[in-house]
Amino acid sequence: MSDVPVVGLEDVTQVYVTDREATLAIDRFSLTVQTGEFVSLVGPSGCGKTTILSMIAGLLLPSSGQVHVLGRAVQGPTPVVGYMLQQDYLFPWRTILENAMIGLELTGQKDETSRAYTLHLLEEMGLQHTANMYPHQLSGGMRQRVALVRTLATKPDILLLDEPFSALDYQTKLQLEDLVAFTMKQHKKTAILVTHDLSEAVAISDRVIVLESHPGRLRKEFQIPDAIRNAEPFYAREQEGFNALFHEVWKELETTERRTT
Ligand code: ADP
Ligand code: MG
Repeated sequence: MSDVPVVGLEDVTQVYVTDREATLAIDRFSLTVQTGEFVSLVGPSGCGKTTILSMIAGLLLPSSGQVHVLGRAVQGPTPVVGYMLQQDYLFPWRTILENAMIGLELTGQKDETSRAYTLHLLEEMGLQHTANMYPHQLSGGMRQRVALVRTLATKPDILLLDEPFSALDYQTKLQLEDLVAFTMKQHKKTAILVTHDLSEAVAISDRVIVLESHPGRLRKEFQIPDAIRNAEPFYAREQEGFNALFHEVWKELETTERRTT
């Protein structure tokens, strides 16, 4: 295995220019993510979390600074990076299997092998019986699992997850956290999660990055102790030290928000 980081952002700045003003969304932000790491980004609304993911995904080029994925400068979207959003964006007129295979279709990889792999992923997510159903026949949690299958089907090395659990009820969200954490480990994926749920960030991650806003900047980084990060997210919340760490992250975020509001 090489020691080139999977994702590297170096002194990245992002300025949004509209006809009325220029917004400094991200100011000299750096981040290095290693293979197999699970990193969460937390911070007040508007601090630039989605902007950071969009730059890693190649949907947005930085105004200055460098973004590298697998050692290469990002110049546009690549199949190496999968992006999963809060909204599942399933097409209502397509079956679940057809929805799950859309990325394969768009990238010209739709064949018997990739179809079999997608069915296998659906099975892993407990969705094998839904392959020929339509999105409206599924619950919100099931639809998010389909979105996860769709993201994994093209075999990206890196998954970007932008608040994928925030529209779900609490119980479904806890179940999906465990499933996502397990799946990322099982498939040896690197993951970057954006969440506004601090307890989720601490429970699911190896590392939590706290951002401050206006402009978006790195505020503080928390390395999650082994006992917590090695437990499934549901049980991580019961580990010794979890509450203390949660409060530390909370305080950091609270002072950030007080400074900016
Ligand atoms: P977050 O995901 O943390 O809520 P965003 O990355 O969406 O934050 O936004 C960061 C900042 O950039 C905000 O101030 C937002 O208003 C601004 N912004 C985001 N996208 C655009 C855009 N397309 N045009 C202009 N400003 C934008
Ligand atoms: Mg966002």
